[in-house]
Amino acid sequence: MHAQLAVLPEHLQRQLSAPRGCRGRYAPSPTGRLHLGNLRTALVSWLITRLQGGEWLLRIDDLDTPRNRPGAEASILRDLTWLGLGWDGPLIRQSERRGLYASVLSSLRRTGQLYPCRCSRRMLADISAPHGTTPVYPGWCRDGGVDWGLRDGRLPSWRLQLNSGPLCWPEPLATATGGQRCLDAQAQVGDVVLRRADGFIAYHLATAVDELALGISDVVRGDDLVQATAPQLAVMQALVGQSPRYWHLPLWRDGDGQRLSKRDGGLDLDGLRARGLDAAAVVGRLAATLTLVNPGSRLSSTELLQELSLDQLVAALAGCPA
Ligand code: GLU
Repeated sequence: MHAQLAVLPEHLQRQLSAPRGCRGRYAPSPTGRLHLGNLRTALVSWLITRLQGGEWLLRIDDLDTPRNRPGAEASILRDLTWLGLGWDGPLIRQSERRGLYASVLSSLRRTGQLYPCRCSRRMLADISAPHGTTPVYPGWCRDGGVDWGLRDGRLPSWRLQLNSGPLCWPEPLATATGGQRCLDAQAQVGDVVLRRADGFIAYHLATAVDELALGISDVVRGDDLVQATAPQLAVMQALVGQSPRYWHLPLWRDGDGQRLSKRDGGLDLDGLRARGLDAAAVVGRLAATLTLVNPGSRLSSTELLQELSLDQLVAALAGCPA
């Protein structure tokens, strides 16, 4: 089955077909302090965009309100500013864009690519996870009809029906596979929820809509989100048939090989400052882990930008150990 383009009202069509010069974005969730790994991703996203002469947007992914932490947004803005990573235009908050997401969802629903799902958390908890830790939803509700209303006092979640077969996207760092990466979204990810049963707009929908509406050409993020790319592409393809290119970066791991979490104290900027590091030392440390500068270097993010070419950055990132 081929993705069917949604018939969008003209204003939505216009909004989602924003002109695409070079535009990058950094999109943290305000769930805690940024740690070194988050800051490195932000730095690389900023460099990739600025080296192409593009605009860099800052978007706060704050839709999952129970996970938001008081003060986290302010600390993110402070930390990026301290590191010299300035963004263009106003700060964007997903929580202020719910109307757009709801309109897009209604249009998508009319294409027949969404279906209501009433599988309970408990049923889903029993699905084994054949690939890593993310369970693949087996499509139990796919043929269950289109009853979108209340049943036993509960509304259904809305799932996107993904096609089988590979979905591919441009990924400049995937040099071994010719600069593209592919996933079979249906087999490896499973039909994702775009609107939760409690009415929350899901991450995949909001993110896909925003990449389009904000005219993002380059998404730079951690490679824990590779799996998320396939459903997000599926949404974009169903809406306007275009998408950005992606740069998935290796996650920062601690000495034991564990990925950092926002709960790890000491590896945020307060911890580093307490150990006497200033912004030039932190930028140097982040850049040295990517072999962009020698260990112990001290430089501002603007100096790093001036020293680099996009080709050098790509070569270093492509060779960077995972
Ligand atoms: N908000 C997500 C996070 O902080 C990242 C979203 C993205 O870059 O697509 O993990």
